[in-house]
Amino acid sequence: MNAVDKLSELFKEFPGIGQRQSKRFVYYLLSRNNGYLENLSTLIAELKNEIKNCSSCFRFFKNDKIKSPMCAVCRDASRDPALLTVVARDVDLEVIEKSHSYDGFYFVLGGTVPILEKNPEGRIRVHELMDVVKKRAISGLKEVILATSLNPEGENTADFVTKLLEPLVKEFSLKISVLGRGLSTGTELEYSDSDTIKNALKNRS
Ligand SMILES: [Zn+2]
Repeated sequence: MNAVDKLSELFKEFPGIGQRQSKRFVYYLLSRNNGYLENLSTLIAELKNEIKNCSSCFRFFKNDKIKSPMCAVCRDASRDPALLTVVARDVDLEVIEKSHSYDGFYFVLGGTVPILEKNPEGRIRVHELMDVVKKRAISGLKEVILATSLNPEGENTADFVTKLLEPLVKEFSLKISVLGRGLSTGTELEYSDSDTIKNALKNRS
């Protein structure tokens, strides 16, 4: 395999990218100057050093001066420890933060569970979620808010997580809630505006 094929095989693994697009990316790179390519390869090489996974919510965040294993949200002692919102992806956490209508903590699943998926554990952070909910339940967690998108895959994910958390819900008398219908059906959380999110949180049940 030559370099064009090798690189295009890697691009093919990107979400939503097929054979044809991955080839286009490679030829696009070939058309750019060396400075652009050097900048891109340096940024890729440094990505994992500069960005890390939060040890509590598992979002990606920039390694800062404090060198804490936790992101700024999880370190914030003024937030409400009774609330934990579970989202599929980092962008979902960001849109909820931007709405300024929520002051609890988060957990990022890192994906969703497609309907009929045979190996859901391979799709989302199952063990990490159980650990975090258990730890938080011991220190005051009361409610887990499932903030997945209102589409079939999002709802399937919420159902899966609900079943998963059942033993902990019983053990610690937790409440599980889902976002209210302020979000219209089929809406992806990441494309919702702040008012919609605010209403969906307020009308959770
Ligand atoms: Zn965090």
